[in-house]
Amino acid sequence: MVTAFVDGWDFVQVLGEGAYGEVKLAVNNETQEAVAVKIINLEKTPTAEENVRKEVCVHRMLTHEAIIKFYGFRKDGKIQYLFLEYACGGELFDRIEPDVGMSQADAQRYFRQLVAGVEYLHSRGVTHRDLKPENLLLDDVDKLKISDFGLATVFRYQGRVRMLEKCCGTVPYVAPEVLSRRPYSAEPADIWSCAVVLVALLAGELPWDEPTYGCQEYCDWKDCKITLTPWNKIDNLALSLLRKLLVENASKRYKMEQIKKHQWFTKTFYKRGLSRVASGSPTDSPSGPGVFKRMCSRVDTTPPGCSPGATVSSSQPMAYRADSQGEVTESGTGEDHLMSFSQPVQADKMLLSSQIQGTPGSSQTPMQKLVRRMTRFFVKTCRDETLSEMYKVFDSLTYTWKKSSPSMLTVTTKDKRNNPLVFKACIIDMGDNLLVDFRLSKGDGLEFKKHFMKVKDRMKAVIRKAPPMWPLHPTR
Ligand code: ATP
Repeated sequence: MVTAFVDGWDFVQVLGEGAYGEVKLAVNNETQEAVAVKIINLEKTPTAEENVRKEVCVHRMLTHEAIIKFYGFRKDGKIQYLFLEYACGGELFDRIEPDVGMSQADAQRYFRQLVAGVEYLHSRGVTHRDLKPENLLLDDVDKLKISDFGLATVFRYQGRVRMLEKCCGTVPYVAPEVLSRRPYSAEPADIWSCAVVLVALLAGELPWDEPTYGCQEYCDWKDCKITLTPWNKIDNLALSLLRKLLVENASKRYKMEQIKKHQWFTKTFYKRGLSRVASGSPTDSPSGPGVFKRMCSRVDTTPPGCSPGATVSSSQPMAYRADSQGEVTESGTGEDHLMSFSQPVQADKMLLSSQIQGTPGSSQTPMQKLVRRMTRFFVKTCRDETLSEMYKVFDSLTYTWKKSSPSMLTVTTKDKRNNPLVFKACIIDMGDNLLVDFRLSKGDGLEFKKHFMKVKDRMKAVIRKAPPMWPLHPTR
């Protein structure tokens, strides 16, 4: 069942979960425009109110192509809604092959975009404080977008810089000075996190649990033991940049200007063939010439209120329905319909409420709007057989699981650091095919991806090859 929350707009899918609630995809049933809506129940988490107020305050002052756009917010009793640009490419961690990473060309492209976004933030006097691949989203043309300003704060105001004291972030990504419980400078701390993200991109693993002397991997790095993993997987030029970034003394750490001049940053990487990604399928490539890219490149960037001109939307809306759990209960049509566009987008009808500052138009159908994830596969089996296969596999991996709805399982386990890892496995009816979609609820993205690969391997007997021209780019 589709749930309407503002006239003309339906929630069609759960995009993700965070500490304070869910993020859902809302689609305008006339124009097919999409926005991500972060929903926070202040009753359930009363402490959230102040944090959300701050998140709104900071996020609304930011406008940059590498930052998720903030459209507006509204409060309905105890429910707070934040309206955000929808990043249909999913999360960056999903593009990282566990223990392998990605091609240098892709890593450099994402890293450059990250640096541009963080440089902009700093120029506005804002620090993010929780940079990690789970908070770096991708749009339909694979551009990186920094999201989740829940921990962001202003460190420079009217030219005056203040030191920060709050110890926050995600431990493997935070700089040593943030853990030291002494005042620290904002900018170098964000730069450290960018460097850890770069390690994850290039090696598919995190360098350490935490940057403290109690952590052997961190001591090894300080001792220059670069023959060990992850460093032995990283090219020398990239390593030389990391050597300047993962410097304990924050004042000696490379600054943005220096990063941008470093040879690894400026070098042109030529891709040999298609980049390697988790599934190994050429069309899954983040930057490869896949079907997805072609179909999703029909993006209208016309400013709200202007005529979108040649932009088109689907002439044959899909019989696509999803309940509030993100479960699709009736589904759409085949590729012919996906390719069939004819009507202009009605840009003037896309405002959610007076508080919405405007959303970009788009010509995608609801089906194409489903977030692009690689942690999913099609199965040959019916729903019940798929479920029993999942029970068997989850039991064999000693996962704890429960059925949260007829087609959704919530799985709980521990990652290699013994931290909780919770994810959802949802069976989605795609008409002729069933899709099993895995989504992280809590824990580390890279660890989640590793567990997904294990599950996928154990379920290979029931996995089917994706239908050709399928727009979602499932793994095969
Ligand atoms: P956290 O616990 O990390 O603070 P949070 O409550 O602040 O989480 P977010 O991190 O903003 O929530 O969002 C949770 C997830 O929802 C993201 O990891 C992502 O998968 C999805 N998501 C968030 N915003 C968007 C968006 N604009 N477009 C697409 N997906 C999104």
